[in-house]
Amino acid sequence: MNRRDALTHAFLSDLPFDTDSHPNLVQAVEDIARAVLTVEKNNADFAAARVLRRLVDPDQIVSFRVAWEDANGEVQVNRGWRVQGSQAIGPYKGGLRFHPSVNEDILRFLAFEQCFKNALTGLPLGGAKGGSDFDPTGRSEAEIMRFCQAFMRKLAPFIGPDRDVPAGDINVGPREIGYLFGAWREQAGIYGGALTGKGLSYGGSEMRVEATGFGVVYFTQHALAEQNTSFDGKRVAISGKGNVATHAAIKAIDLGARVVALSDTSGALICEDGLSHDAVQWVQAQKAQGAGIDTPPAAYCATFKPGATPWDTEPDIALPCATQNELDGDMAQTLIDGGCLCLAEGANMPLTDDAATALREADILHIPGKAANAGGVAVSGLEMSQNSHRRFMDADTVDSALQSIMTDIHTRVAEEGRNGDRIDYVTGANIAGYRRLAKAIVAQGIL
Ligand code: GLU
Repeated sequence: MNRRDALTHAFLSDLPFDTDSHPNLVQAVEDIARAVLTVEKNNADFAAARVLRRLVDPDQIVSFRVAWEDANGEVQVNRGWRVQGSQAIGPYKGGLRFHPSVNEDILRFLAFEQCFKNALTGLPLGGAKGGSDFDPTGRSEAEIMRFCQAFMRKLAPFIGPDRDVPAGDINVGPREIGYLFGAWREQAGIYGGALTGKGLSYGGSEMRVEATGFGVVYFTQHALAEQNTSFDGKRVAISGKGNVATHAAIKAIDLGARVVALSDTSGALICEDGLSHDAVQWVQAQKAQGAGIDTPPAAYCATFKPGATPWDTEPDIALPCATQNELDGDMAQTLIDGGCLCLAEGANMPLTDDAATALREADILHIPGKAANAGGVAVSGLEMSQNSHRRFMDADTVDSALQSIMTDIHTRVAEEGRNGDRIDYVTGANIAGYRRLAKAIVAQGIL
């Protein structure tokens, strides 16, 4: 466990929520507090404005019942939320997650992190997160549509292109965004970019689907270049089989890496020679059909190992792209013992506190999600500007813009985190995000 310094300890003893019922939020707040409280203390304006104390308390939390009728005509009841973290630098912005694990603690931690991530992009994006404890597993297309429509009936009054712009997250992809957008448009009676991640035929941006995974790899390229190395020939292990994981895999393969593992909750798909594009596309197709990845066709030379994790494969580069706290202290030790040189987070807060401490002590490059996976929300920002302009960019233009945004984020983080020839990405990302938010919050007065 981490030992808390006195400033962090004092800050954490006076949080405006019940810490026992918000373990994920406490973890996220501690990570940021440890990095930024000294900056806050040393800046009279930031300190007087109590910037961090204000940021840990979101602007609003909207919480609502979502009642809907399932395929058997039975009424189902779920909970829905939107946590609107900060609007200081732009409209609230962040994804929607549909998963049985969703609760207020998870969404408050994600909204808090999102404020800092979005600030790092340099774009005018505030921070928010939302979703529901609805479990889409095994639900029919019609049930998914009905749930999305019922969810949006409750959420619509609180969002809009200049107010709050949700997008996808776990289990909310292009299909769900389509239903959510249709329901919003019908209720609002206007056509506008109130959601991102839309389909190309009705206002979406090229490259939004690829952006998060590609962005993780673009950022990691810079971190590797700082160490005079690259993806070429490296063993890369990736957890997850969703949008972020598979697009990170595709880009890493393009850069000459050997992607030795992808995974889901039941085990790991391992391929010592490196998965091919075809194998990754098979994983995408299985996921789209709600099927497992435990029966890979022989042509892909991949084996599914039940119960295994990608971290057992002695990777040079680890990309956790599944979910929060998926990688614990023991798994981090396995990575360290296996010679891992760099870990970049495709998911939001995928490392437990113990895992993060182990990497820090072993001096392994650790790139936090708020920097590494910011490419997704950055292209959402580009989707918003394309919607405002009513003009679209082609895929190459968006990809170049994404690359230059990831380069800029790397520069901002490196500036704050450089220590000799090493960069502390965790501290650098927290301070760089904080500074932008703090300046905006101070400038706008006491709200
Ligand atoms: N859910 C994604 C994230 O964690 C994307 C959010 C967005 O595009 O608004 O950043």
